[in-house]
Amino acid sequence: MTEQAIEKLELENDLHHALADQQFVLNYQPILNVQTGDIIGVEALIRWQHPVKGLISPDNFIPLTEETGLIISIGEWVLEEACAQNKAWQEMGLPPLFVAVNVSAHQFKQRDFMNKVEDVLNRTQLPSHFLELEITESSLMSDLAYFKELLFAFKRRGISISIDDFGTGYSSLSYIKDLPIDKLKIDKSFVQDEIDKKETIITSIIVMAKKLNMRVVAEGVETKEQYLYLKNNQCDQVQGYYFSRPVDSATMTQMLTKTKEQKELTSA
Ligand code: C2E
Ligand code: MG
Ligand code: MG
Ligand code: MG
Repeated sequence: MTEQAIEKLELENDLHHALADQQFVLNYQPILNVQTGDIIGVEALIRWQHPVKGLISPDNFIPLTEETGLIISIGEWVLEEACAQNKAWQEMGLPPLFVAVNVSAHQFKQRDFMNKVEDVLNRTQLPSHFLELEITESSLMSDLAYFKELLFAFKRRGISISIDDFGTGYSSLSYIKDLPIDKLKIDKSFVQDEIDKKETIITSIIVMAKKLNMRVVAEGVETKEQYLYLKNNQCDQVQGYYFSRPVDSATMTQMLTKTKEQKELTSA
């Protein structure tokens, strides 16, 4: 066996008890309104605190959890934890935010997934409009007919859907117009492109989204130049290292508290 295959087997073994051993943590990355600069939401991003290998990023274990089916139980934990944390922030009197949760196609394909989401909202007492589910464009396109019906059902229940990594999967944008999607998240590869390439892709996504009454978020904003470009082109929301890296919940609480206190100083 190659070293890589052994590493994969080890991780797979360890994944089976990682949830029970409470080795997963959620980090949160702020999402800002471009025009006001206010934090209006956060994206929940999972990390695996491995007892020997240290902190493992989701790209290095989420695919394995999808192969093994563990994504179902791990995804449920993520959803519950993220909603409970958001509710806790609201109870602390912090300005209400939405929380965006990444959901794998395997989770969406469970027959009772919608009920599970509603159960979580009931248990955590988080109103549905403070939750956004993110589905990647490639998941969506893997079974467009299925997802179309499902997304309408979510829409009827007041739960918003964002398309993650938008622009990476398909060159045709036209399929999007028939879907009840609230938000497009422009993939960071476009945000970080050179200005002339950006011009065509980012501006056409934004123009199309406006016509379809969808919001647009740009992810992976790392520089002031990138931020100003998005601001000048009427992008709605931004997320990226330029504003903040994903941080643990305690750090996020501090950040939100500080922002609130600063606002109160100037609005007195
Ligand atoms: P994503 O949903 O597209 O999340 C955005 C990724 O970009 C995150 O990586 C985030 O840390 C990173 N990022 C944010 N701002 C910047 C920036 O300015 N520059 C750069 N270079 N990167 C930035 P992360 O946390 O490693 O997550 C990677 C992917 O793993 C996510 O991509 C998502 O697809 C998946 N993932 C994360 N958490 C979960 C989860 O709870 N469930 C599922 N199913 N997937 C998850
Ligand atoms: Mg995401
Ligand atoms: Mg993305
Ligand atoms: Mg991604």
